[in-house]
Amino acid sequence: MAKELLIATHNQHKKEEIQQILGTDFTVKSLTDYDLHEEIIEDGESFHANALIKAQYCYEKTGQPSIGDDSGLVVEALDGRPGIYSARYAGDHDFAKNMAKVLDELGDTENRTAYFVTVLCLVNQNGVQYFEGRVYGTLTKDIRGEKGFGYDPIFIADGESVTFAEMKPEDKNRISHRSQALAKLLAFLQQ
Ligand code: IMP
Repeated sequence: MAKELLIATHNQHKKEEIQQILGTDFTVKSLTDYDLHEEIIEDGESFHANALIKAQYCYEKTGQPSIGDDSGLVVEALDGRPGIYSARYAGDHDFAKNMAKVLDELGDTENRTAYFVTVLCLVNQNGVQYFEGRVYGTLTKDIRGEKGFGYDPIFIADGESVTFAEMKPEDKNRISHRSQALAKLLAFLQQ
């Protein structure tokens, strides 16, 4: 029988992406499926802490193996900002404003090194496990491309010549922080 995994999200797209990667051995459920509509306060000081808060909430509510995730952009020359504040750096999920703030703070800085990171946290009867994916790259000086979301239009992954927002989604997904973290989770679950 397929094992059930609860993902701490209401985002149907995220749920389907995870279901697709984990395959038919697992049934992925969301907060919506469990009718859990309380706001989960993500007040951790790291990606790991926030992923744990979400996974722990789900596990405590349902007793099902639960996954929390947290992602963001880490910019070297900005001492790691926007980091855990990526979603609301200048305006809550206002991608244009958030990118503008990062580009503005960077100005003409030569060091444009940055990475995207995803931390997944699994909480089940055996305890807590973390899985991390990172993709390194550089930030552009202008906005390029219309696909994707978040900071995709200003990020060029190492070895690529176009931004994430100019790549086909399947090409981005092959190398993304999220898919790397999910691959590690899958390998662990299949052990
Ligand atoms: P979340 O934890 O997956 O909700 O991601 C938090 C924020 O990080 C998003 O709102 C985006 O601003 C940024 N982010 C995370 N992953 C990506 C990505 O793949 N591309 C662009 N921005 C991302």
